Amino acid sequence: MKLDATDLRYITSDEFRVLTAVEMGSKNHEVVPTVLIAQISGLRNGGVNKLIGSLAKRNLVSKVQNAKYDGYRLTYGGYDFLAMRAMSKRDTMHSVGNQIGVGKESDIYIVADTEGQEMVLKLHRLGRISFRAIKEKRDYLGKRKSASWMYMSRLAAQKEWAFMKVLHEHNFPVPRPIDQARHCILMEFIDAYPLRQISEVPSPGKLYSTLMDLIVRFAHSGLIHGDFNEFNILIRRESGEPIVIDFPQMVSTSHANAEWYFNRDVECIRTFFKRRFRYESALYPRFKSTISEDGVATGDFRLDVMVAASGFKQKDMKMLEEYMEAVKSDGEDSEEESEEESGDDSDEEEDEANDETRQEDEETPEILRGTADSEDEAELSEASK
Ligand code: ADP
Ligand code: MG
Repeated sequence: MKLDATDLRYITSDEFRVLTAVEMGSKNHEVVPTVLIAQISGLRNGGVNKLIGSLAKRNLVSKVQNAKYDGYRLTYGGYDFLAMRAMSKRDTMHSVGNQIGVGKESDIYIVADTEGQEMVLKLHRLGRISFRAIKEKRDYLGKRKSASWMYMSRLAAQKEWAFMKVLHEHNFPVPRPIDQARHCILMEFIDAYPLRQISEVPSPGKLYSTLMDLIVRFAHSGLIHGDFNEFNILIRRESGEPIVIDFPQMVSTSHANAEWYFNRDVECIRTFFKRRFRYESALYPRFKSTISEDGVATGDFRLDVMVAASGFKQKDMKMLEEYMEAVKSDGEDSEEESEEESGDDSDEEEDEANDETRQEDEETPEILRGTADSEDEAELSEASK
């Protein structure tokens, strides 16, 4: 998807007001009725229609017609726009450059600040994969599948931000976190290659033990990366130093499956070093000896506790984890499931159709019902100035 930075500057304050109103309305409505957009934005109905039209032309919102009422949805582009505009208002980000990565659940861009200093913008894209995967679990999502991509993507960004911050503050080799807004994270650009792309290193043994030490250091401070592999380890071009990225799946060492996650991280490194560098060692960290008997980390500080105290709620952590697990297992099973799946699909379409005609306020889970967060409110009141 193209991110157009010039758009950031050329939106009028009334257009911005309407766009924010669509975002706020979508917390309670699959399709936000035009009258509600007018009501939230506090603008007159006639004027609003024209403004929505111009937003739709720029693909920031899209029109949805259905039996009961006409309305609009915020698009990915619209959500990206709101996040980037927030950062540009705070002067953390000024212009957008090339896309350097398309993950399953993120897009990565090179961006720059007003001085031209390069940074990395990571846009989380949870829910790009079908929500069919979490069908059984959707009690917590209600029927709001299409609004939940915003919600889940934002949770992933908030979690990644919280972890990156404490890790950076405690001198772990991670990119410096710069800003976070909605589903986006702005961070230091690392001039590096992913380990995956590296065919030779001066001393595989040394790199191996640096990485294993890092796993142990994480665990001593209460954390397990959870996706510690050759894609998420960057090797600095100049120094060969490893930098760890990608934190939305980090777990605490007191997590029920901590040992399993820990072993998987260790195994990823062992397997990769065997295959790529023909390097094998009998030495590798074990969970039990890394962690004290009662599962409590042995280090001087507990980063998992700090993250929990940072405002990223346990409840949100749990929801994100369930989502990620469901999506993962859906991906793994999908080939064997073709028959079942076709059944699922028709079901899904039916649900989708229902979603669009329903005003779901009473069955909206508390998490989604919450009115705008303070960020949105601040922006809306700012737009009215
Ligand atoms: P995903 O969740 O999609 O795996 P990652 O955070 O792992 O996203 O980033 C995907 C890719 O983008 C990485 O493999 C790396 O090549 C690049 N990348 C991410 N963050 C940075 C950064 N701070 N500096 C340089 N490259 C980065
Ligand atoms: Mg990754």
